[in-house]
Amino acid sequence: MNKERAVETVLAHLSEQGGVKDPFGATHMPIYQTATFDLKKQSGEKIYDYTRSDNPTRESLENVFAKVCGGLGAVCTHTGLGAVALLFETVLKAGDQILVENDTYGGTFRMLKVYKERMNIAVHTADFCNHEAVESILKSNKIRLILVESPTNPGLKIIDLKAVAKLARTYGSIFAVDNSLATFYSQKPLELGAHFDLFSTTKYVSGHGSVIGGVLATNDPALLKDLRYFANAEGRSQNPLDVHAVSLGLPTLPLRMNAHQESALKIAQWLENHPKVTRVVYPGLKSHPQHELAKSQMKNFAGVITVDLESVELAEKLVANCELFGEKCSFGTADSRIEIPGKISHASFTAEELAAIGITASTVRLSIGLENTNDLIEDLSEVLNG
Ligand SMILES: *Cc1c(COP(=O)(O)O)cnc(C)c1O
Repeated sequence: MNKERAVETVLAHLSEQGGVKDPFGATHMPIYQTATFDLKKQSGEKIYDYTRSDNPTRESLENVFAKVCGGLGAVCTHTGLGAVALLFETVLKAGDQILVENDTYGGTFRMLKVYKERMNIAVHTADFCNHEAVESILKSNKIRLILVESPTNPGLKIIDLKAVAKLARTYGSIFAVDNSLATFYSQKPLELGAHFDLFSTTKYVSGHGSVIGGVLATNDPALLKDLRYFANAEGRSQNPLDVHAVSLGLPTLPLRMNAHQESALKIAQWLENHPKVTRVVYPGLKSHPQHELAKSQMKNFAGVITVDLESVELAEKLVANCELFGEKCSFGTADSRIEIPGKISHASFTAEELAAIGITASTVRLSIGLENTNDLIEDLSEVLNG
């Protein structure tokens, strides 16, 4: 199985593609639920000793993630934020400076606050659609690490990853992309010049809201060595049971992403024509200010839509009264979700910080699931028109 195959094929043949031999020829990689391995009972070229350091179940899935991300290697972490933490542990030293896109996951900002207070990490933020602003920060500061998401969430801005990668290389910064929303199925940050592709597998990648996990992949041999060292040293690796749970969603990821996208586009277009909706942001819409850039770096626009409604009352009514759209945090699951970002996912942002990324009290974020599209439109319609 050395031939290079398309992502759908790799994911459909997950366990063979993982390249870890199971002695019984299991067709799905078994859960090696053990803390330790007997050193005297192993004779192969690969010896396992302790599951924190290495485990066949995890190694198999890490090999698959490395392949589909276009990386040399990958590490599965216990949570998505664990992948962010492992990135910081691998790359940052006390006193370093980091530059982050201003519309970044709230949990990442919360972690950065701790790094700032306890490790004297200077945190700069910028709107990465403004390349001059980014370059001026890079020019006047020694930035060790640049971290962005694209699309951003909930603003759904598209960051030109190739352009940022070029800036990062020019100014000697490490560039990491949080790819949780687009997924590796849609875009490949490593191929666009990033040093790290990281994502929460809690969202689309596992796809069923049934497990928490993360991945950090790289194509740089020295960074990979550090990554593996710190995954073990800081105890970041994912347990075999959760690795297994993540693996169950993978073969259907391409199918699911295409279904999420198809439904999201129809719903976004329907919302655009609704008189009580004042703005619809979805990268797959022609009206998205960076639709062309999105098309050039993404294969799939995923299923998250951000809309502004005519009033705060209507936004609250929609969240409270939809039947199929549950008021739950997170996105990328089979069931559709709705939330007011300022209340849930971005509750730690001040009103000014939210305004800077275009979010108001009448903004709602929708995660379009895998239900029948007409059922979803009817659900929204009944509340909006009721
Ligand atoms: C959810 C999320 C995370 C954190 O992942 P967990 O699995 O919840 O720890 C990080 N980044 C982004 C963009 C996310 O959406």
